Amino acid sequence: MNALTQRARAQLDDLLAHFGLAGDEVPASNWVDGRLLAGDAEVIELIDPVTGEALLRYRDAGAEMVERAAEAAAKAQPQWMALTASERGRRMNQAISGLAGQEEPLARLESIVAGKPIRDCRAEVGKVREMFEYYAGWCDKQHGEVIPVATSHLNYVRYVPYGVVGQITPWNAPMFTCAWQLAPALAAGNGVVLKPSELTPFTSIVIARLLEQAGLPRGLINIVNGLGTSTGAALTDHPRIGKLVFVGSPQSGRLIAEAGARRLVPSVLELGGKSANIVFADARLDDAVAGAQAAIYAAAGQSCVAGSRLLVERSVFEEVTTRLARAAEQIPVGLPEDEATRMGPLQNRRQFEHVMRMIDDAVAAGARLLTGGGRPDDLPEEAAGYFIAPTVLVDVTSDMAIAQQEVFGPVLIAMAFDDEADAVRLANETRFGLAGAVWCQDVARAHRVAGQLRAGTVWINSYKAISVMSPFGGFGESGFGRSSGLDGLREYSVPQSVWVETAPEASVAFGYGSGVG
Ligand code: NAD
Repeated sequence: MNALTQRARAQLDDLLAHFGLAGDEVPASNWVDGRLLAGDAEVIELIDPVTGEALLRYRDAGAEMVERAAEAAAKAQPQWMALTASERGRRMNQAISGLAGQEEPLARLESIVAGKPIRDCRAEVGKVREMFEYYAGWCDKQHGEVIPVATSHLNYVRYVPYGVVGQITPWNAPMFTCAWQLAPALAAGNGVVLKPSELTPFTSIVIARLLEQAGLPRGLINIVNGLGTSTGAALTDHPRIGKLVFVGSPQSGRLIAEAGARRLVPSVLELGGKSANIVFADARLDDAVAGAQAAIYAAAGQSCVAGSRLLVERSVFEEVTTRLARAAEQIPVGLPEDEATRMGPLQNRRQFEHVMRMIDDAVAAGARLLTGGGRPDDLPEEAAGYFIAPTVLVDVTSDMAIAQQEVFGPVLIAMAFDDEADAVRLANETRFGLAGAVWCQDVARAHRVAGQLRAGTVWINSYKAISVMSPFGGFGESGFGRSSGLDGLREYSVPQSVWVETAPEASVAFGYGSGVG
């Protein structure tokens, strides 16, 4: 262990102790039925993303833990639904107050394990609060509807929770995705079993514990940690789980949807992206360059909505890409704990190797590096982990792997287009459809192009503006279903249609009767 890993380990030990997770052999890595529990299955090793050295071990939860978690959620959920809707909202607000004073240690815990800049982790904790407050407000506003049917019946629709839902999240924004899915699930009246990524196991447990202890019924939210193939598969296959909500890669998403289909359980899939960022020649280029930079390099490109394909009108292509490459070289890449760091390492070796391979293959296929393409050269020697400098590639064609596959790293490819139709064609030339942006001052063109993009979220003269109030999700290989806003809430309940005869004498039709149509 070099000095940096030792320091990270000491800080991690302090934080695990602070949150009551420290254990004799391995730390507690599950929050199940109101208790912190260590797993007892396979050992999982966490690697320090900064140094690439072993940091800590814990144990996979395994199928038995999933069973306990699902049973606890099934037991707690009716108690939750027995409360009035307003009381559930009050309890959610009370629950989020449980995080008060714990924001900084939570951010530090995430920063060490995920290798994420501390300032990004602080922002993520803020999002947890925002999501709970927003969905707490929905608890007593989930009105049903009255349908003006053609018979003497009163027909009304109410929204019924699934019971227990299963959620699976990735490593790139663990606290954000945890709250993003927990809050609407609870607001709709469900109990939850959530499995975070095995690479970032701790903050979701801490959040669940703080929330539950501050105001939720015991066992309503359960967090189990372990590998996708063991704990994850046990969760997707568990008979108590009425719906699966998955945030992660298209490859795993397919397996989750298949597991759901085997039991005829519906799923929401929030998957990856290959989002186009389109710059027309009339755009305010200062803004477009700053926007393009934030779109791809924030979170070291490990963002589902990363603007990874920059499409620039040919007349300003040279200027925009040159300015962007110079700007990329100015981004402070460094240790996650440093306040000045804007970009840390990638989170894990698999991701690092994938990104490096994608860059090397692109160069071998004829792409040209304007900047980056490897490790930054001004890092401390001990920071031998998963750092990649902000990278810009040009001379890319749409048929190259780098233009079609998700890189999920700090790699921007830039392609030139000739006119509006060419821009739209290139933008939509992908199996993904998560997000996209248009930079231009011609209002009519901006809306025209936005309307033609096959993407769940489109920005005009902006990038990455995201709110829990606005629906989010994909087309194509970016998944299906929606999160955030009312659409995200509706994913967690089923409409039930209730028919009440109001005529003085009930006339029960044999067959469809006169009410048809
Ligand atoms: P991943 O698919 O490898 O893993 C995601 C989660 O799925 C992890 O918890 C993993 O343990 C679990 N898992 C894997 N196989 C499983 C199986 N067979 N059964 C059950 N669970 C299983 O993804 P990742 O590498 O952790 O995350 C990166 C991906 O997530 C990228 O593609 C990124 O675009 C995507 N992502 C999407 C969004 C969105 O909102 N659309 C948000 C963040 C990340």
